[in-house]
Amino acid sequence: MAINDDECWSRVKGRLRSNVGEDVYSSWFARMDLERVSDGAAHMSVPTRFLKSWIQSHYADCVLSCWQAEVPTLQRVDLTVRSPIRQAALMKEGKVPAEDLRGDRNVTRPLSAVRVNGMPTADSADAFGPSPLDPRLTFESFVVGRSNTLAHAAAKQVAEGRRGDPVMFNPLYVHAGVGLGKTHLLQAVTFAGNASGQRKVLYLTAEKFMYGFVQALKSQTALAFKETLRGIDVLVIDDLQFLQGKSTQAEFCHTLNALIDSGRQVVIAADRPPSDLESLDDRVRSRLAGGLVVEMGSLGEELRLEILKSRVAAVRVHHHGFDVPHAVLEYLAKSITHNGRDLEGAINRLLAHNTLSGQPVTLDMAEREVRDLIRPQEPKRVKIEDIQRVVARQYNVSRSDLLSSRRTANVVRPRQVAMYLSKTLTLRSLPEIGRRFGGRDHTTVLHAVRKIEALVGKDPVLADEVELLKRQLQE
Ligand code: ADP
Ligand code: MG
Repeated sequence: MAINDDECWSRVKGRLRSNVGEDVYSSWFARMDLERVSDGAAHMSVPTRFLKSWIQSHYADCVLSCWQAEVPTLQRVDLTVRSPIRQAALMKEGKVPAEDLRGDRNVTRPLSAVRVNGMPTADSADAFGPSPLDPRLTFESFVVGRSNTLAHAAAKQVAEGRRGDPVMFNPLYVHAGVGLGKTHLLQAVTFAGNASGQRKVLYLTAEKFMYGFVQALKSQTALAFKETLRGIDVLVIDDLQFLQGKSTQAEFCHTLNALIDSGRQVVIAADRPPSDLESLDDRVRSRLAGGLVVEMGSLGEELRLEILKSRVAAVRVHHHGFDVPHAVLEYLAKSITHNGRDLEGAINRLLAHNTLSGQPVTLDMAEREVRDLIRPQEPKRVKIEDIQRVVARQYNVSRSDLLSSRRTANVVRPRQVAMYLSKTLTLRSLPEIGRRFGGRDHTTVLHAVRKIEALVGKDPVLADEVELLKRQLQE
């Protein structure tokens, strides 16, 4: 390589570094080498295929323009994966800093170091380890009812798949409120999938995914984390709503694409549909929505009764004397409507009382023990689309009027009411609401909310209208 090229390359690196920032630079570009400049192209190399595809899909333009700033006649940047042998030779010549190779050794960290079907172990905080599984959360203990039939069938299908089988729906995306069985179903998939020995299934909470990635970045083994993810057949991610941070999301997006494109299965759970994952960018959202999206509804009374029965049966394996009369189970199923976690809590309390006091479980005792678990009916989850539909109907405008930029009085007020209701009846943030109202700014939403709040205090007709709309939406 000509001396001149070498100098040029170090200036290009300087430009890249200041364009993308030190963090990004050291994650993705620190190991990029210049091979030669010829035929109007800069030929560069990186040590792994992953790096190559990442740089090509995210930074191709940026790299080219940094080059062109130095060599205006340059037309292309050509990126290849260099072989390890060549790297070793370079190292001998003293051309590659030792830490580069250290990084590469991490890349080839054996996958066996990753416990794919791991139970919690001493070092489960390991950045590359899976999230711990609860051995009780299996398909055997999962009760199927009207609200979860589809989610269960889809999950079962994933768990029974074999390596190389065509993937029917990808990703499988399950959403439901708290305590309705998402984690149970996902862990069941993981457990059953791994137990069949057919595929490697990795279960991660979104937090674990973030933590793993951040840790990996810190210790400069980001590549090892990615290679780990690439070595599995099914990636299961729980509580996706907690995924935060630009770089983790970019990473998640890339992982998702890489897995799906190579025919591997992704299973996701979240507390809301993809369209409501406000902090994710549009590409990820649409990719998520492109698979099978299934909602699990609230647990019906029948289902609650079956869950209670299966819980009692599970407890009786260790506590033979634990008897819960049918009337008590019926009472619990009728009155604890909230979620599966409270059903479990109720049985645990009865068990505690029964074993500590030695008294049999009776209806009286049950009523006393679970009083605080009996909550008033949860208000229904209201969707922004429903609000827009109902408000548009009420004011005799169209939903697209509400989303449009028209500023005539007959649409401005309904639009403000709809934004106000979106803020008060859903958990959506101001920016998200703005986005759902034709891409408006969050300050516009804030203004609308304040405006309606103020008017409702003064204008009884409007106050009645708003009240009526609320009631329609919540029943
Ligand atoms: P989520 O992850 O949706 O918040 P979990 O999966 O943690 O909810 O479920 C909460 C509790 O309810 C767990 O103890 C779980 O076993 C139980 N549960 C929920 N749905 C079912 C079901 N269909 N069958 C059996 N148990 C269930
Ligand atoms: Mg959960």
